[in-house]
Amino acid sequence: MLKTKDILDEKDKRLRQISKEVEFPLTKKDKDLIDTMIKYLHDSQIDELSEKYDLRPGMGMSAIQLGVAKRYFVVVLETTEEGQEEKTFETYILINPKMISNSVEKIYVTDGEGCLSVNRPVEGIVPRYARVTFEAYDEEGRKIQIRAREELAVCFQHELDHLNGILFVDHIDPKNPFKNKDSMRAI
Ligand code: ZN
Repeated sequence: MLKTKDILDEKDKRLRQISKEVEFPLTKKDKDLIDTMIKYLHDSQIDELSEKYDLRPGMGMSAIQLGVAKRYFVVVLETTEEGQEEKTFETYILINPKMISNSVEKIYVTDGEGCLSVNRPVEGIVPRYARVTFEAYDEEGRKIQIRAREELAVCFQHELDHLNGILFVDHIDPKNPFKNKDSMRAI
């Protein structure tokens, strides 16, 4: 079972690598890793499980955060509606992802972006496109296209950055962490 301490910390140089394209069919190792990542993200968003196993909550994870320099990431997005008793989630697996289009409009997360590899509070805004279209491959090697908006769009862009060795903190100007805030919409 994956623990929070197994996730690479921002100081780890491996996070700065450019991950390599994945070849199909996927190896058993990669399939297992994808399952492990999904399970972590899912459990980390269920209060009893995150407490029981001391999991820091997260909704996205890239293979490189576990030291595997391959171009894939997973996202487990909570889709629970009001009044629903049990939490529900939508899972996304993107292999060799590319952002093929984006909106002009930009947004930022008001409370700041989080990252399982960044274990400190970070002030400042990260500009992201409000709507994006990603092309990627699924686990069977089929080409898929996914449109994402708002939180999910931010998450996809954040994870794609990981595959290119970029962390969200890199987008923040330490001298002016709220630069151009008024030209973007807060979410
Ligand atoms: Zn991250």
